[in-house]
Amino acid sequence: MSVQKVLDTINENNIQFVDFRFVDLSGRAHHITLPATEVEAETFENGVAFDGSSIPGFRGIEESDMVMMPDTETAYIDPFTDHPTLNIMCNIFTPDGDRYDRDPRSIAQKAEEYLKKSGVGTAAFFAPESEFFVFDDVRYESGMNTSSYKVDSEEAVWNTNTKEEGGNLGFKVGVKGGYVPVAPVDKQQDIRSEMVRLMQESGLRVERHHHEVATAGQAEINFRFDTLTKTADNLLKYKYIVHNVAQQYGKSATFMPKPLFGDNGSGMHVHQSIFNGDSPLFYEKGAYANLSEMALHYIGGILFHAPALIALTNPSTNSFKRLVPGYEAPVNLVFSKGNRSAAVRIPVAAVTPKGCRIEFRTPDSTANPYLAFAAMLLAGLDGIQKKIDPRELGYGPYDKNIYELSDAEKSEIRSVPSSLDEALDALEADSEFLTEGGVFSADFVANYVSFKRQETKDIAIRTHPHEFSLYFDC
Ligand code: GLU
Ligand code: MG
Ligand code: MG
Repeated sequence: MSVQKVLDTINENNIQFVDFRFVDLSGRAHHITLPATEVEAETFENGVAFDGSSIPGFRGIEESDMVMMPDTETAYIDPFTDHPTLNIMCNIFTPDGDRYDRDPRSIAQKAEEYLKKSGVGTAAFFAPESEFFVFDDVRYESGMNTSSYKVDSEEAVWNTNTKEEGGNLGFKVGVKGGYVPVAPVDKQQDIRSEMVRLMQESGLRVERHHHEVATAGQAEINFRFDTLTKTADNLLKYKYIVHNVAQQYGKSATFMPKPLFGDNGSGMHVHQSIFNGDSPLFYEKGAYANLSEMALHYIGGILFHAPALIALTNPSTNSFKRLVPGYEAPVNLVFSKGNRSAAVRIPVAAVTPKGCRIEFRTPDSTANPYLAFAAMLLAGLDGIQKKIDPRELGYGPYDKNIYELSDAEKSEIRSVPSSLDEALDALEADSEFLTEGGVFSADFVANYVSFKRQETKDIAIRTHPHEFSLYFDC
């Protein structure tokens, strides 16, 4: 929408506040709110100032002044505020009027521009499947053994002698037993439906929602694919609505990849394809999984760069607790049609030429979507430009359940990094595919690595609850 349209929307809807938002390095949104009476056409030309030195991973204290420049296309009415408020996503600029090269949204836009310049296609489409848990009660107790806590609670809910507030009524979900049962086992249908209602009201096109595999209120809501930056904006809106509806129900939603030991974690599989105008470029009828050579090379780029890429698509220490065998999360750097144990899956059921796409299953929602989508596109484009053939490099296709291969067969297969530090090492060794076209700057990569290294150090020096069961009685 144009600036005039935004000003009209403010008048017509009696909007009292305009909320200007931007995204930090880790993908969290921040906001500054202006009374609508202070918002005029000039606000959109001059932007809104903020202190970049207080945002983790941004500028130093000596050069703190930054400017948010609103992108009026992103405006939507906030579904939660008591006072009618219009939310607008912004890009970040320096006071000199340059794009800030650590602004994730600018990086996403540069990746889209780079795709067009490359001549490969005109648009890349993304669709994330961002899973999450809705918990009744979040506890972190130092010294709690998370594994026995989980097992105990499972036994407790099935033991009819166990007293629960209001009585034990059964209809519980077992470990990995949560995939799509109807109520009364599914106790969160109304919460998800309310999330979907508000998403639709806020402009998201939602396709479906369901209970996910894990026991305790794991959920997934799918919204329709769109171009790169728009999909990242949509994901921010999605998470905002999920978090806030859960709070309205007196619950707490988390996108943390592995909150429960011993049960499925939450992934963010990302479906992706490239079009030239109206023509899908990933489809070739009759080829393996109806995939074009270009799609195969895109997969080659993703798998070849995966160890480094994962530093951006799985950027938390917790991410690597999800990437273990046995929980539908991929461990193996291979591709396959249909096979959910592969890092890259090609959905084949009910797929049309335009719907032909690849699904990278490794990412999770701790990823900053602007950075992660940009990095995946750049890895795929590098594969296309260098014609990286995943079949020649031993990445498959593998159509068997990889978890069940023999040890000899498994030894042929490369795995995802086993820790954030390992992924960061890989990124330090392989970042040219990100910086070559000027989409990511070398300074960005170095700053990102040191920002994330701080997290791994912070975790390494803290006592873990499970250490009590291993060492307390030594
Ligand atoms: N929750 C699984 C994961 O961690 C995925 C389940 C599914 O295939 O939707 O990736
Ligand atoms: Mg799922
Ligand atoms: Mg999926």
